[in-house]
Amino acid sequence: MPRPICAHIHTAALAANLERARRCAADARVWAVVKANAYGHGIERVWGAFRSADGFALLDLQEAERVRALGWRGPILLLEGVFEARDLELCSRLSLWHTVHCDEQIDMLAAHKTQQPQRVFLKLNSGMNRLGFAPPRYRSAWARLNALTQVDEISHMTHFSDADGPRGIAHQWQAFCTATRDLPGERSVCNSAAILRHAGDAQVRGDWVRAGIALYGSAPDFPEHSAATWELAPTMTLSTQLLAVQQLQAGDSVGYGSRFVAEAPMRIGVAACGYADGYPRHADTGTPVLVGGVRTRLVGRVSMDMVTVDLEPVFSAGVEPGFGTEVTLWGRSGSGTVLPIDEVAQAAGTVGYELMCALAQRVPVLTD
Ligand SMILES: *Cc1c(COP(=O)(O)O)cnc(C)c1O
Repeated sequence: MPRPICAHIHTAALAANLERARRCAADARVWAVVKANAYGHGIERVWGAFRSADGFALLDLQEAERVRALGWRGPILLLEGVFEARDLELCSRLSLWHTVHCDEQIDMLAAHKTQQPQRVFLKLNSGMNRLGFAPPRYRSAWARLNALTQVDEISHMTHFSDADGPRGIAHQWQAFCTATRDLPGERSVCNSAAILRHAGDAQVRGDWVRAGIALYGSAPDFPEHSAATWELAPTMTLSTQLLAVQQLQAGDSVGYGSRFVAEAPMRIGVAACGYADGYPRHADTGTPVLVGGVRTRLVGRVSMDMVTVDLEPVFSAGVEPGFGTEVTLWGRSGSGTVLPIDEVAQAAGTVGYELMCALAQRVPVLTD
């Protein structure tokens, strides 16, 4: 028998989250962002739930090929654009739209031989300082693209650094409005945090929004808001079973480095999930976990293949945990109790995004 660990991808939740994003986005079209193999969920597994999206946005050309292979004929956007000249051939062949964020990409387009002009999204660096033309250079980049026979429509995009936090989007939005003023073309600026928090403004919504993490049921601005308060449903459950129960006496320690020492007699469970499954090693004593659907905590250090959990709250709740009892690391337990991935991420000093994307290859994945 394989190890009892398993991830479940919840198709109905993916579809409901897309509808949720759509309600916030009103009349704007919605890109389903499926980069990083659909945030660790698997492009082929989310495809059915997202086929009502208006387009798919991703980074990797092989992932674009996979979306086309599934039969998607609508728009696909490469969020970082092309990486080398011959990528443009694939863009022509698969009719991919692509971001243009630097002069080198314009040079490649200018040298590209094609019968079919390509649609591009010109990217402004409005303050994130990762990709895009700085405001003083934006309009000349646009003029250069506009003069190319290889280019069809030019749209405008930028990316917010603080849509989830107190600094907000005003400073970047201002820069975007100034740089793009009077230029023709569609606009796209909102990621999930901006969709949820700022897309009430039709101008900010623009023509296309780029929904990523919200589709996967995680709150981009946790803990200010939880997924539940945004009405987002968990799309991934990571669950396993207990392999053993240990009785500790006061003074007994648990696991590598003896990081946890029992203050009184207590029972702990050993669950078949560790950092080689993608569970964060930095999750410390106190990180929430469900055993038999009852909320309890991790104790001691996460090891490669196992974690140890406090069973006292589980016994207190009237559940008798033992070999084979269900353990939910995040997501939905068999009894329906939810452990938000964002709470686990916070306890491990990271974000839901990272946990989803880090789900290890060795974990079997089922879809429901
Ligand atoms: C990843 C990404 C998104 C989606 O971000 P979320 O926070 O997951 O919604 C949007 N736009 C760009 C350019 C991205 O790279």
